[in-house]
Amino acid sequence: MKRACKECKILVETGVCPICKNSDFSTSWNGRVTIIDVENSQIAKKMAVKANGDFAIKVR
Ligand SMILES: [Zn+2]
Repeated sequence: MKRACKECKILVETGVCPICKNSDFSTSWNGRVTIIDVENSQIAKKMAVKANGDFAIKVR
């Protein structure tokens, strides 16, 4: 199962977040959204996402 960065909510399988370089992850997350065009994505704006990738909607 993928883990979500508690800082930026990106879903990763590796040990370090590609965005904030943090290693503080949660396995307790809900929902999933894939951002492929962060510049023009309303969802990305709403979620304050700054990179393309898979993101969790809720992270606990
Ligand atoms: Zn992060």
